Amino acid sequence: MGVEGTRQTAARVTDFTGCPWHDVKSMLRDVGLRPTRQRMSLGWLLFAKGDRHLTAEMLYEEANNAKVPVSLATVYNTLHQFTEVGLLRQVAVDGSKTYFDTNVSDHHHFYVEDANELVDIPHAEVTVDKLPHAPDGYEIARIDVVVRIKPTRD
Ligand SMILES: [Zn+2]
Repeated sequence: MGVEGTRQTAARVTDFTGCPWHDVKSMLRDVGLRPTRQRMSLGWLLFAKGDRHLTAEMLYEEANNAKVPVSLATVYNTLHQFTEVGLLRQVAVDGSKTYFDTNVSDHHHFYVEDANELVDIPHAEVTVDKLPHAPDGYEIARIDVVVRIKPTRD
C-alpha cells in the first residue's frame, strides 16, 4: 500500500508537463546527473529563460538574488559538470573571462567590449577560410570565433 501511495504522488508530479522545474529534472536525468537541489536550482536559473551567456560570477549573483544558498565554488563546479555532459558550451573570451552558453549548437559570438556581453552571430554570417592542418594525431574539434565590437564614435 505504501509503495502504491508513493507511485501515485510521483505520477501526479509528472503531470506538470512544460513546467521548467520538471524539465530541468528530466534534463539532468537524461545526461546521468543526479538532480540535487543545487543542480536543480542552478539549472532552473540557467535554462528557464531561453538562450543565455553567463559567467560563473553572473550566475552566482543571480542565485544570490533568487535566495539560492550556494557558494561560488559550487557554481563553478556545477557549470563545469553541465559543460562536461553537453548541457552547456564554454566560450573563452580572454584569459580571465569564460562564458557558459545554454545554446550548445554550432555558432559564433560578438563580444561587446564595453558591456562585457556575449551575443550570438547567426551561423551563416561567418565563414572561416583556410584552416590550418591539425598536428599529427589531432583533429579540429571546434572553431570558436569571437568578434570583439565596441560602439562607433560620432
Ligand atoms: Zn551563444
